[in-house]
Amino acid sequence: MPVRVRLAPSPTGDPHIGLAYTGLVNEALIAQGGGGQLVLRIEDTDQTRSTRASEENIYSSLRWLGFQWHEGPDVGGPHGPYRQTERREIYHKYAAQLVEKGHAFTCFCTPQRLETMRTLQRKTGKKPMYDGHCLNLKAEDIAARKAAGEPHVLRMKIPTSGMCTFTDGIYGEVSIPWADVDMQVIMKADGLPTYHLAVVVDDHLMGITHIVRGEEWLPSTPKHLKLYEYFGWQMPPIMHLPVLRNLDRTKLSKRKNHTSIRWFQGQGYLPQAIINFLGQSFVRTAEGEEEIMTRENFHQRFTPDVVSKAGAVFDLGKLEWFNGRWLREKLSEDDYLAHVQRWAAERNRLKQGLLLARSRITKFSDLPQWVGPLFSGSLALTAADFAHLKTTPAQTASILQAALHVVEKQQAFTAATLWDDLKALETTLGIKARLITAPLFVAIGGKAQGLPLTESMELLGSALCRDRLKQALALFSTPEEPTETATPDAEE
Ligand code: GLU
Repeated sequence: MPVRVRLAPSPTGDPHIGLAYTGLVNEALIAQGGGGQLVLRIEDTDQTRSTRASEENIYSSLRWLGFQWHEGPDVGGPHGPYRQTERREIYHKYAAQLVEKGHAFTCFCTPQRLETMRTLQRKTGKKPMYDGHCLNLKAEDIAARKAAGEPHVLRMKIPTSGMCTFTDGIYGEVSIPWADVDMQVIMKADGLPTYHLAVVVDDHLMGITHIVRGEEWLPSTPKHLKLYEYFGWQMPPIMHLPVLRNLDRTKLSKRKNHTSIRWFQGQGYLPQAIINFLGQSFVRTAEGEEEIMTRENFHQRFTPDVVSKAGAVFDLGKLEWFNGRWLREKLSEDDYLAHVQRWAAERNRLKQGLLLARSRITKFSDLPQWVGPLFSGSLALTAADFAHLKTTPAQTASILQAALHVVEKQQAFTAATLWDDLKALETTLGIKARLITAPLFVAIGGKAQGLPLTESMELLGSALCRDRLKQALALFSTPEEPTETATPDAEE
């Protein structure tokens, strides 16, 4: 049976480097299995956070890193649609089966009730879990409440005692008490499934033979196993990859590290070096052994047994080292030049940058000073670079923060749409547009006078703009303690 694996990103925000990490292991399974297919599935059931812009970025980031998929929303295939929001009817059919067989139940609990319940549970030292309030409602009551338009969700039933035991490709035998597993919402009030139902139905219908996903989903596996059992299906072998970690061993986060594939692209790293860097964290190299390896080397060398459960540390310094070696030793002159040209031409920034600079220069040798910031990595600014501003440090910080918010929210990321949003800050912040743009010129272009602001931002792209604004902001504020993000299991 040919190997069929899947990459299943949610199109929320910038494509994360962890996606490439999972993608590489999927590729290795195909290579070691003697061939097969990679399916790209877009998991967009969280309608509040999913965007088409993010989906497009997933395609371009993965392609830039050299990934190829055989089936997906953009390339089609025999098991489509590959975008979950286009598969509603399928999930409804399977959810109805679960209700019919008594494996799922309708729940009318309001968010307020659930919150009160959880607060009480926390206060009494219990794990916040659904208390079964709607577990035994009568069929006619359910019908009447639905007919009256009362919002409702579907939850799956979970055994109340015993252990769920399964074998994970990396973690070995895992046992989780059923008492610790929540009666998970599987259909939301908006008529879309949660990840848990969708992933089981899709992996089955798409003929997936091996599941590779992040460690954060390990605690959800009992729910998925139970769903497979309810449907009478066999769960494919599953492997959870330990999370990538910051240097301080906390979970890789964008607060402490660069996690966006587009940031690495914008900075001018080589895809081969990134693949090498991610791949080598999975294979154990002996002292003195060559660490440079190609994607194909990695495919052959990957074995789950040597993957460290503690999680690989994402050390940017090490990536720099790989990148330097790749571009000096591994690329032919022609390849090197082709890579540089492709990088400089991203978003057409070389051509547009030269055109934008035309109104500022008197001779060509003035060009580097104007166009340079479009091609720099970090601008290495200090607080002194902002000292001449007419705004107070507190105002400057609030401008940078507000601009960062604009950059994070912008989908179109064109000079015009950016300008509309930045101009709107006049009202929100109560500061004149001229004063608002001044610190942004410094943060984005490195000095008070530069190329036009929003045009430069468009050419730099959102990943680099966000990075520069964050670096500038860090000069004005003490970094906040990271707040724990919600676990995936909290999805309701
Ligand atoms: N959409 C999930 C995520 O982005 C996918 C997890 C999986 O591969 O099953 O984390």
